[in-house]
Amino acid sequence: MNDAPGTFSTNPFDDDKLHEECGVFGIWGSDDATAHTALGLHALQHRGQEAAGITAYNGKHFFTKRVLGLVSDNFTSKEVIDALPGDNAIGHVRYSTAGDTDLRNCQPLFAEFASGGFAVAHNGNLTNATHLRRSLVSRGSIFQSTSDTETLIHLIATSHFRNLMDRLVDALRQIEGAYSLVALTSEGMIGVRDPLGVRPLALGKLDDSYILCSETCALDIIGAEFIRDIEPGEIVTIDENGIKSNKPFPDCKPRPCVFEHVYFSRPDSLVGGLSVYDVRKRIGAELAREFPVDVDVVIPVPDSGTPAAIGFAVEAGLPFELGIIRNHYVGRTFIEPSDQIRHFGVKLKHNANRWHIKGKKIVLVDDSIVRGTTSLKIVELMRQAGATEVHMRIASPPTAHACFYGVDTPERKKLLAGRFDLEGMRNYIGADSLAFLSNDGLYRACYQPDGRNEAAPQFCDACFTGDYPTFLTDQSEQEENNNQLELIASPGK
Ligand code: AMP
Repeated sequence: MNDAPGTFSTNPFDDDKLHEECGVFGIWGSDDATAHTALGLHALQHRGQEAAGITAYNGKHFFTKRVLGLVSDNFTSKEVIDALPGDNAIGHVRYSTAGDTDLRNCQPLFAEFASGGFAVAHNGNLTNATHLRRSLVSRGSIFQSTSDTETLIHLIATSHFRNLMDRLVDALRQIEGAYSLVALTSEGMIGVRDPLGVRPLALGKLDDSYILCSETCALDIIGAEFIRDIEPGEIVTIDENGIKSNKPFPDCKPRPCVFEHVYFSRPDSLVGGLSVYDVRKRIGAELAREFPVDVDVVIPVPDSGTPAAIGFAVEAGLPFELGIIRNHYVGRTFIEPSDQIRHFGVKLKHNANRWHIKGKKIVLVDDSIVRGTTSLKIVELMRQAGATEVHMRIASPPTAHACFYGVDTPERKKLLAGRFDLEGMRNYIGADSLAFLSNDGLYRACYQPDGRNEAAPQFCDACFTGDYPTFLTDQSEQEENNNQLELIASPGK
């Protein structure tokens, strides 16, 4: 979910555009629904660290708690768990912004429809939510938040269909973009994955209860069994009669997000049937084959560069050392709202293990370069620690395009690869050499090694290629507006 851009934003940290990264979890039919949801969200905390929320249903009432903060700081006490009673619960973690005003954007969002209560948690971004919102507002809808997910709620509320499922499908047919949804009603739990399957959604089982979650690591933490991924374009309904599946959208070729494999998902998760850890190791091996380098040692940029660095070192036959030690009590570098804090964050987070660096030619392996802040600082850190040569290998192609589907990548002009060519990027980060994995290399690494699915699927790789698989209605309208404003400001142009 994201906040609608432009006039609806009240975010003081809005340095370019608001994007969110999220994780969702839901469980139906468990004595410990809220405790399990809290644990599941804790396992998904890497997908969003600024806000969390749980809605529980006890057969009579819905109970919601939403906070700005971490799951472990807010959803562990007996009082909190007891205040969210019921056998059914859904939850959400979100990276958003700081400030009180944003509590209204935290999820699950809740609405009281004619059919009863409806709570929803959303991972992904809608790309026509502002467009739809304008038309809903002009017809009298009153929005409570600036979140794109609320647009979906209004579309369901104003649908002409009678029953909730038909209304939901009617609403979903109007929205564009990426959505993995978990919804809770008095009748059951609903899971939805958009027709392209951009963001993941997994189905699991624990005794008699069903679970829906962004990644399988959230099943592991509660001892649940992974059943399967929810398919692109699939809607599942889960109630006391079990699970029903429905595919109401026209068939189209799935385009799951490849960045889930590169960076976003946890390495101990299975995403799209692939072990994220194994894919990252294969990516590292591809990188070593594509861009070998004459060095003494391979150093991962922790933690996200580690599996690729292992693959690189094994393929290259080079020693592997933890030459950078990470302080785990600092959040992910990127998940800080302003550039100033982001710069500071790198120093807070990493220290050189200098005895393994001094006097050595090293190659650093990281998963991606976004703005270049991390690479710049890490290269400097390695030189200060006495490295004689610092080479950098990146386990993905250059991130040259913004993501509109729920990963926090800034607009193109703030991306290092949007600002410079390869030599310019190398010069900016101060490395002796720099190379990025090719897109073909990335696809080669994303195969199913047991032969079930030899070829990699077509992914959404828009952040690397600019090939966006959906309309970007809001973005196009915003660009058109900006062009008109520019024309008004300088009519002679
Ligand atoms: P930057 O410092 O802006 O170049 O960001 C690159 C670093 O942030 C890499 O070390 C990645 O591990 C990490 N990263 C890449 N993409 C994201 C993202 N969408 N959210 C959070 N961190 C990211």
